[in-house]
Amino acid sequence: MKTILKNVIENNRDITKFGQVATYIPELAKGNRDALGACIFDTSCNSILEGDYETKFTIQSVSKVVTLICALIDNGKEAVFSKVGNEPSADPFNSLLKLEIQENHKPLNPFINAGAIVCTSLVSGDNGIEKFSRIHNMIKKLSNNDDIDVNYSVYNSEKLTGNTNRAIAYYLKGANIIEKDVEDILDTYFKSCSIEVLVEDIAKVASVIANNGVAPWSNERLIPEEVNRIVKAIMTTCGLYDTSGTFSVNVGVPAKSGVGGCIMAVVPNRMGIAVVGPALDKHGNSIGGVKVMEGLSRELNLSIF
Ligand code: GLU
Repeated sequence: MKTILKNVIENNRDITKFGQVATYIPELAKGNRDALGACIFDTSCNSILEGDYETKFTIQSVSKVVTLICALIDNGKEAVFSKVGNEPSADPFNSLLKLEIQENHKPLNPFINAGAIVCTSLVSGDNGIEKFSRIHNMIKKLSNNDDIDVNYSVYNSEKLTGNTNRAIAYYLKGANIIEKDVEDILDTYFKSCSIEVLVEDIAKVASVIANNGVAPWSNERLIPEEVNRIVKAIMTTCGLYDTSGTFSVNVGVPAKSGVGGCIMAVVPNRMGIAVVGPALDKHGNSIGGVKVMEGLSRELNLSIF
């Protein structure tokens, strides 16, 4: 498997030249456009690292999976889906377009920015500090890494420039979808997106989801079974922005991407995979990451369909 991972990465290195690092968050523009690395962490705790696996990156939208897990555990399925839908969106991740016309102004799903801001508002905690600490502790547990922390340069950069997210959050407040202090919720959202990790951390998070919510390294249940099932379903239908359908056809596993260049993928009952490649395609997915996942799916017969 190590050789397969190495070859798939090396065969797709050149494509990173056709992508661009995200620049709308100025600090992300410093990402290494040429980097491509991955980790496979299986449900028996074997870890395979190849390529530029030492590249640190911020999780960005991959945090939406962790936030959804917390929101579902803290509120239950009915309460969460009364405020956010579970249908795929054909619009970009930061779009405001559908909010006005959607029934009750509910965001389409938890993985577009509007939906993730709603989920952030639902995470337990009386203020931003408590809410962030809930999300932070959850990712530490899911990755079995207590040292995970926020990249404060990225966080400050997001906070300074996140005006579209601010517009989304204030709209949702006006529509009574989110309660409590908007700036506090946004602060938690920006911090969650700015959590800095390595591919091995994210492959471990994915391995817990692949192992039906139980940590492979301790056999401790970290995610209730029903929550785990819902999260996999939404990753499959909504995880790769407006290319989730194409990813399902070409790769065929639940996954979530982020503009920091990560793709987290869950191969049920087998393994978690994380790829990092900061050069993005025009949809916001890691251009090399998508190709690595396509190659791995072919070589290791990963599709669940
Ligand atoms: N923090 C980013 C934003 O809100 C996350 C976007 C993403 O990774 O899709 O714009």
